[in-house]
Amino acid sequence: MSAVITPIKALKDNYVWLVQDGAEACVVIDPGEAAPVEEALSGQALTAILLTHHHADHIGGAEALQQRYQVPVYGPKDIAVVDHPLVGGESVQLGELSLRVLATPGHTLDHLVYVLEGDKPALFSGDTLFSAGSGRLFEGTAEQLFKSLRQFDGLADSTLVCPGHEYTEGNLAFVASLGNETEALRVRTQDVKVLRAEGLPSVPVPLGVERKVNPFLMAGSGEELARLRALKDQF
Ligand SMILES: [Zn+2]
Repeated sequence: MSAVITPIKALKDNYVWLVQDGAEACVVIDPGEAAPVEEALSGQALTAILLTHHHADHIGGAEALQQRYQVPVYGPKDIAVVDHPLVGGESVQLGELSLRVLATPGHTLDHLVYVLEGDKPALFSGDTLFSAGSGRLFEGTAEQLFKSLRQFDGLADSTLVCPGHEYTEGNLAFVASLGNETEALRVRTQDVKVLRAEGLPSVPVPLGVERKVNPFLMAGSGEELARLRALKDQF
């Protein structure tokens, strides 16, 4: 089984991720609004909703979709629409899709990410990890985010990172401003430029690429991450 993973554009720069197993499962992650999801489904029935954290741009469409399709909603327990609360450490089986749940406090304290297991793994990273960046620390500490990111160390380089926003160009500009330009950074920057010029998403991106270009992922300590975060917040 190979899952089909499709980004759906929503709101200003959000991505809702549509994941299908080719049989029964048709799942969306972080539906910030319902209309673009319904359009992308084009008549196909939704079977579940997964949420990463409580921010409105990630959950705004969940209630409308839940009511229309009568589907379970998985996510942090502090979100009202969630009827299958998760805390991290669980495995969720949806049709042929096996998803591992990781608690990744930092951006928010309730933040969860979902790892799609199998021969083509994927990481639905919400606002914990972006391409070439990470989410702002609204609720948690840099130390917490550092530990959250370390949980990705065991994932294969081929794991496709599917984040909650199209922030890649701005993030790469920040990385370039740090100096230290590498071949991997040049290649990724060029690739993203071409994709974005064509109006295409810059994600998913393999975790192996992020391990070479994302300073937040490469940071060696919570302190280093805090320094980076402060610089990025003022960039
Ligand atoms: Zn958020």
